[in-house]
Amino acid sequence: MNMKLDFDVLVIGSGPAGMTAAIYLKQADRNVAIIDGNAPGGQLNRINSIENYSGFSKISGPELAFNMFNQLQDNKVDYKYGKVQEIKKESDYFIVSTEKEIFSVKAVIIATGRNPKELGLENEKQLLGRGISFCAICDGSLYRNKKIALVGNSKETLEEALYLTNLVSELLIVIKEEELIECDLKDKIINNSKIKVINNSIITKLNSEDKKLSSIIIKNIKTNQSEEIELSALFEYNGYQPNTEFIDCLKNNGYIVVNQQMRTNIKGIFACGDVIDKEVYQVSTAVAEGAIAGLQASKYID
Ligand SMILES: Cc1cc2nc3c(=O)[nH]c(=O)nc-3n(C[C@H](O)[C@H](O)[C@H](O)COP(=O)(O)OP(=O)(O)OC[C@H]3O[C@@H](n4cnc5c(N)ncnc54)[C@H](O)[C@@H]3O)c2cc1C
Repeated sequence: MNMKLDFDVLVIGSGPAGMTAAIYLKQADRNVAIIDGNAPGGQLNRINSIENYSGFSKISGPELAFNMFNQLQDNKVDYKYGKVQEIKKESDYFIVSTEKEIFSVKAVIIATGRNPKELGLENEKQLLGRGISFCAICDGSLYRNKKIALVGNSKETLEEALYLTNLVSELLIVIKEEELIECDLKDKIINNSKIKVINNSIITKLNSEDKKLSSIIIKNIKTNQSEEIELSALFEYNGYQPNTEFIDCLKNNGYIVVNQQMRTNIKGIFACGDVIDKEVYQVSTAVAEGAIAGLQASKYID
């Protein structure tokens, strides 16, 4: 290869997986950069309290993100801002493009995580940040002493609901199932006087006033009866969509398929963290996969 490349490895995404991969690469003396279109930390910035990450009995997501970013800086990892739009393979290197920049690199690690899925309702996009939210820790304080609703029936929904009850006056949880998910938080939710669970129901319409969410229409799927509920915010927990639109590689439901070495089906492209097809989507697994991807990418460029 005669061309001078910008980096040995470009890590895309600065959540826990990407930051860990970059640290391992830097400590192996590789010329590595990490790029992200948002603030470092990824989903960590949305987590109120993490109580299952080894070494910390309890730590807030933003604090853990800050610690990881400090470590990245201590290791002098080159940090770039930008949203990656395309990865193209040239003979034995890759061209990675953002809106403004182009990088040529020997190997790529994709650690772009996943984003919450919208419900797909009319008006929903326009009301994002105007009553519709996916993140209690980011937006909860905007609705202090207000009536709000959450839609979804995962453990994450219940965690977010409990966090929000400290702020809001009244909280509805809209679930399409008969019962709340079985988990250790279920009793806390049922016994919380601020929370009301609306079961067997789906949201069919979002109404707005002054370009802000003002009410929702819910339909009981057993009785087919609809009801309008006035509220200030709707927090949505409707599953996730992996951020993989910029890469054409082997995927399963949009999630990147990797082997145990975090290799994708394209030689020189690795993936780790929430963006890959796997069972457990947690900080600890993201960090572990980041370490493997970093070490394997380091081996690959030899
Ligand atoms: C509300 C909530 C609570 C949670 N609670 C816990 C918990 O208690 N314990 C636990 O272990 N886990 C928890 N998780 C899960 C945990 O946050 C994730 O598993 C972890 O953050 C995944 O890390 P990641 O690096 O793979 O992806 P992410 O953290 O999603 O980071 C991906 C990064 O990639 C960037 N990116 C995306 N697309 C591009 C692009 N095209 N170009 C450049 N950059 C891009 C994003 O901006 C983001 O910064 C929780 C998640 C949520 C949402």
